[in-house]
Amino acid sequence: MIQRTPASIEARESSQRPATGTATLQIPEPRPDWQKLMSNAITSPEELLKRLGLPVEPWLKGARAGHGLFPVRVPEPFVQRMQPGNPNDPLLRQVLPLIEESHQEPGFVRDPLGEDDAIQTTGLIRKYRSRALLMVTGHCAINCRYCFRRHFPYGEHRLSPDDRHEVINTLTASPEINEVIFSGGDPLAANDRLLAQWAELLDTVPHLRRLRIHSRLPVVIPQRVNDSLLKWLSESRLQKVLVVHINHPAELDQATRQALSRLREAGVTLLNQSVILKGVNDSTDTLAQLSETLFEAGVMPYYLHAFDPVEGAHHFAVNDDRAKALVRELMEQLPGFLVPKLVRELPGAASKTPLL
Ligand code: SF4
Repeated sequence: MIQRTPASIEARESSQRPATGTATLQIPEPRPDWQKLMSNAITSPEELLKRLGLPVEPWLKGARAGHGLFPVRVPEPFVQRMQPGNPNDPLLRQVLPLIEESHQEPGFVRDPLGEDDAIQTTGLIRKYRSRALLMVTGHCAINCRYCFRRHFPYGEHRLSPDDRHEVINTLTASPEINEVIFSGGDPLAANDRLLAQWAELLDTVPHLRRLRIHSRLPVVIPQRVNDSLLKWLSESRLQKVLVVHINHPAELDQATRQALSRLREAGVTLLNQSVILKGVNDSTDTLAQLSETLFEAGVMPYYLHAFDPVEGAHHFAVNDDRAKALVRELMEQLPGFLVPKLVRELPGAASKTPLL
């Protein structure tokens, strides 16, 4: 058996790249459908409003103001699940900028989770003892208005080949880390060649047991779950966990269910995390229906995150007393295994903090 080492993986990769200056004719591989859907995403507030048959006038000024702070990005498969003509559609609410984004509110800050202090080396964030977050890309398929990383300096975390060595060296020297979490941005916005290479490099770190992926892509562009993704996932020796991010039951359509089913068949454990968001899912009935719909799709409800006070998103905030009351009601409606844990992430804490 050939021993795989970080150096042998890098050497093989570079031998597959044409040398600079050679006349080798490169026939570009066709772009996968999901990448075309990502490139063709709606990126202007006007287009989003028109696409949904909404009057531009009452919304446009605020939408442009918010768009200037954090650009609009919505892929077509997600737009198709919105109700045309409904400005309160719970999926639209997650992506349409409002004038409130330009209001400064006390207590709402640019880095609510204190991630700056948890950066271990370029691209690697370590908050908890046994796991580390690897920022494989700063891109997302969708820009969620409430994102706690909407101000994150992704440009400073682009990983060069030297940085990759540093990440692997850091992980190798940290035997207490047994799980790496692909994060971002949305890690599945990176191409499969890059992800497969990362997975191979992680395979060489003997004490790693699990690869966890936090992604919204299988939901917003289900075509992302294709053969090439499933191939590198099934080749890794690590146990795979995919934590999707779904806030409302209307986000799960047939194509998403099929994508999730393919992941499950490939041996990936599926969990969901949601954020409690005013005007989107702050009702017991919606949360109960979300848990039921997730379970039918083979996904276990995992976390319900209390709102992180990020600058520009205060209009989504649900206070902790209300969030706790909702989860108590949820416990009366659902079996315990369908009730997600209500948690808050506090900067510097040794784990997520349960609120109940
Ligand atoms: S990181 Fe996740 S929550 Fe934030 S914008 Fe990207 S997909 Fe949305």
